[in-house]
Amino acid sequence: MQRRVRTFLERMIKQKRVPVSLLFYGKEGVGKGNVAFEFAKALLCLNNLYPPCGNCSSCSHMDAFKKEPEENLAYYGEDKRGRKVFMYLQGEHPDFIYVKPDRSEIKIDQIRGVKEFVYLRPALSRKKVVLIEPADSMNPFSQNALLKVLEEPPEDTHFVLVSHNIDKVLPTIRSRSFLLEFPPLSLEEIKSLTGIDDPFILEFSGGSVNMALKLYEDREILEVALDILSGDILRLYRRSFEIEKWDYDRQALLLRLLEILLHRKVIEGKEEHRQALDRVVWGMEFLNRGIRLSILIFYVGLIGGEKDVLHKG
Ligand SMILES: [Zn+2]
Repeated sequence: MQRRVRTFLERMIKQKRVPVSLLFYGKEGVGKGNVAFEFAKALLCLNNLYPPCGNCSSCSHMDAFKKEPEENLAYYGEDKRGRKVFMYLQGEHPDFIYVKPDRSEIKIDQIRGVKEFVYLRPALSRKKVVLIEPADSMNPFSQNALLKVLEEPPEDTHFVLVSHNIDKVLPTIRSRSFLLEFPPLSLEEIKSLTGIDDPFILEFSGGSVNMALKLYEDREILEVALDILSGDILRLYRRSFEIEKWDYDRQALLLRLLEILLHRKVIEGKEEHRQALDRVVWGMEFLNRGIRLSILIFYVGLIGGEKDVLHKG
């Protein structure tokens, strides 16, 4: 998977020309996280190999990290007022940290924790790696704090940022990072990775393994999405109220699916769908802040629905 990107990264390591900060971006479920971890492991590998050797003590610590439950890896620090706060995940490897959101955001205290980490000397490997995923979950304060670190990059430390939504990463961070785009997977790749051969699911996976697997488990959601965009007011009305009772994950999945469907319309040149697409993207951002999803979806269906979407449902 992602052979082109991996060949490129391999060359970087071989030629010892790895930028301080790299930003991996692309749709969710196209393998960015796995490649980022593998790349981090290679940067730390005592044999300096890509793919990493898998045998040295650095590689074994990294393998152990992957297997360990998150609660065992959570590292806590203190905020300015001395309260205990979640910082990042760290296993036995002294030179690797994995920064992930504390609930929905990566907060500024966490970046302060990163700062303390990066100015230490590497203890096992020749380098240190900070993996931040998803980088777009850093709030503006965190992004600015990270920018300060990137402006005076500490020696021997690499930052690997992973983003599903590069538009939410500050332009100043983007410009200081080496950008590497992960293209959507082909239907064939998804098929061989997941074993799913339902053409309908493959088609609506948007090139994402995660999406394909979720649709496979929850095929009904595809029908709901198509109903919403059907242009049939009655169906739209019924579905809008139904989804209000769903849990967060399923609501988020529906929004992502609507995004894929509307995005396709826009790419096909149906510009009139752009407004609905924007509303869906907005909805994803505000979903965990208590918006009334039924109203949003009803509106999206009204402005984004049309008769010709339905022939598949
Ligand atoms: Zn190794």
